[in-house]
Amino acid sequence: MAACPKPCRVGDTLADIETPALVVCLNKLEENIRKMKTVMANYPGVVCRPHVKTHKSPDIARLQMKEGGAVGVCCQTLTEAEAMVFGGVSDILITNQIIGKPKLRRVASLTKQAKVAVCVDSEVNVRDLSEVAVEMGVTVDVVIEVHVGGLRCGVEPGDAVVALAKTIVALPGIIFKGLLCYQGKNQHVRSAQERKKTVDMVAEKVRRSLEALKAAGIECNYVTGGGTGSFQYEASSKVFTEVEPGSYVMMDADYRKNLVEDGNFFTDFQQSLFVVSTVQSVSSTPERAVLDAGMKALSLDSGEPVLSQYPDLTYHNGGDEHGVVVPARDLKIGDKVWLVPGHCDPTVNMHSWIVGMRDGRVECVWPISGRGPGV
Ligand code: PLP
Ligand code: MN
Repeated sequence: MAACPKPCRVGDTLADIETPALVVCLNKLEENIRKMKTVMANYPGVVCRPHVKTHKSPDIARLQMKEGGAVGVCCQTLTEAEAMVFGGVSDILITNQIIGKPKLRRVASLTKQAKVAVCVDSEVNVRDLSEVAVEMGVTVDVVIEVHVGGLRCGVEPGDAVVALAKTIVALPGIIFKGLLCYQGKNQHVRSAQERKKTVDMVAEKVRRSLEALKAAGIECNYVTGGGTGSFQYEASSKVFTEVEPGSYVMMDADYRKNLVEDGNFFTDFQQSLFVVSTVQSVSSTPERAVLDAGMKALSLDSGEPVLSQYPDLTYHNGGDEHGVVVPARDLKIGDKVWLVPGHCDPTVNMHSWIVGMRDGRVECVWPISGRGPGV
């Protein structure tokens, strides 16, 4: 496969960047990474394992571990996991079910290079993983995903957790590590009070599962979960030992809408991610400016992007390769516009490179090595 061309080179200025380009402000990215470390210091006994589904970049993951106090990272796909391990990240949790022996062999082979754990929620998957691990002569850590209300994956809290844990404990090649209790739907609920209430309910389900495990004589001292919108509540719940926020490092227009209540520090995270786009056409009847960033440069699933320099102008979906800005105001052909994406994760996934800028210059161009649908 031909490599995608880089949009610019180190040392370039904004004028040199070919667009649409994914750009991070390095000062803000680093500030978010350090801020997470400071915040987590308030929760002794709870560690942070940031989710890399947001950036899919081993370069940023290594920064989170070096500067941000991260104990390791979470991955959602096997492609992300491989990108992290091959990019020098030493400790990963795949917060997802990896189905079928061909893919499970890839998981097992990663354990030869890094500390790797994977989530499960079915006996058939656990048995396949055990057979593959034995066949390859490795041991794989296994985390049971518990359904805590997100209406996605996971076994029901309590007895079903114990039943699956017993299967894991009895099988060779795999080790029972603990529980994933992530409530994804809760993250973007606008009211902090509502988010806290949901985490209280999640914590009750975790507690019930831990008690059932204890009664069955199965030790469990690892519970992970929580994203950018709620992680401080999981961290103070007394049942979680780890949190896994992802978006905080880049942020997006949708997350910015979450309300600040109850002393929630969450909006302190800085917007570090932008899509830089160029005005390619301007018309006066009706007045509009057309940008070169459309649905293939920006994910619109959580709403349109916001124009960072012109918050009173509106971006409209102009199709695959175009964005329409109204009114055009004084925008001219060739002008560069900084767009704050509605949803960071799927936007990053559309690009091949992250341009890192500081003080008006390109400092790095990082590959988004884990991008793709997650094969
Ligand atoms: N943990 C899991 C299991 C997730 O699926 C996600 C995101 O979908 C996260 C953590 C990170 O969430 P956020 O990007 O909202 O911080
Ligand atoms: Mn997301």
